[in-house]
Amino acid sequence: MFENLKEQPADKILELMQLYKEDPRSDKIDLGVGVYKDASGNTPIMRAIKAAEKQLWEDETTKSYTGLAGDPGFADAMVKLVLGDTVPREAVAAAATPGGTGAVRQAFDLAKMANPDVRVWVSDPTWPNHLSILKHMGIPFTPYRYFDSETRGVDFVHMIADLTAVMPGDIVLLHGCCHNPTGANLTQAQWKAVIELLLEKEAVPMIDIAYQGFGDGLDADAFGVRLVAEKMPEVIIAASCSKNFGIYRERTGLLMTVSKNTSRTKLNQQSLAYLNRQNFSFPPDHGARLVTMVLNDAELRADWAAELEEVRNSMLGLREQLAGELRQLTNSDKFDFIAQHRGMFSRLGATPEQVAQLRKDHGIYMVGDSRLNIAGLNKTSVPVLAQAIAKVGI
Ligand code: PMP
Repeated sequence: MFENLKEQPADKILELMQLYKEDPRSDKIDLGVGVYKDASGNTPIMRAIKAAEKQLWEDETTKSYTGLAGDPGFADAMVKLVLGDTVPREAVAAAATPGGTGAVRQAFDLAKMANPDVRVWVSDPTWPNHLSILKHMGIPFTPYRYFDSETRGVDFVHMIADLTAVMPGDIVLLHGCCHNPTGANLTQAQWKAVIELLLEKEAVPMIDIAYQGFGDGLDADAFGVRLVAEKMPEVIIAASCSKNFGIYRERTGLLMTVSKNTSRTKLNQQSLAYLNRQNFSFPPDHGARLVTMVLNDAELRADWAAELEEVRNSMLGLREQLAGELRQLTNSDKFDFIAQHRGMFSRLGATPEQVAQLRKDHGIYMVGDSRLNIAGLNKTSVPVLAQAIAKVGI
């Protein structure tokens, strides 16, 4: 049987991590994998999470199963964090999933269950795992243009032109904030225009929100997802707690559906629980419980929000510094987009050859499409990167 297995394409980012590990140079810089790092290159456990963990260790009396959709308290707290007060709670069905990836996977499964012929529209580019999961599941997908490689902003004219071909019932996948891999995001006016188009086309939006709080702030980053939830009759939302709570390995995410027709919520909820049961049964609980504790305790929540702001501002500072260095070195404003981008990533717009040269000649590791993780930098490495970019002639 196993002789029939075929070699699967290697994950480019994980491959890059391996190359970085094997590089003996002590001044190498890792701008690859999408993990937040502080100025000393560590991915710390957030203070509030550590405090909640201590408290949980004291107070937890059982490790028995939770519900199939996870602890309802987690869903309540996360629905509120993502959606605020934009829709009544009765309009939302929600189930805990193993990370945001689990939510994305279950979202596609749900879409297929509701419509076996479903088609998904994805931004070009998008997080490669979106495409890889869709391929694995045999769900057809169509890219829509998103990134302008000249300005390194959103190519909105072509995005709208492509989405004009969307058919009723098609799913349009949008990044809630901090677009991965480009860092280029829709403005509020552009969100409004996309929603108008999707309403007209009777499409179903799916929002993947994995970086709430990393861009312009917790509420500002939820602007798009909240407006979509407010305006559209049905929405699918996949949220990740990996980045904004720093609990990557705990595998904590939430899949939500919003149905304005609240008589649908019960069936939506049942379907989410059913899908969990088929795929992995009960979702992981530890991370979800920590998130719930942090969100529901005023003191822990304030400390978490403050630390998240520190993280966000440190990335903004690095963006400003890098754009400033490059302005001086190139005597032009062509890299100012780095300061405009939001979240952990920016697509630099370098060729694969230039990316390879940065790695070989300068020990600077970024993904082949020239996505760099801003959080992989610190005040000292920013000028080193800027010099290398200027030398390579990007
Ligand atoms: N969506 C996007 C766009 C992401 O970048 C990520 C993290 N790389 C995820 C979802 C899911 O992350 P996780 O499964 O680690 O929560």
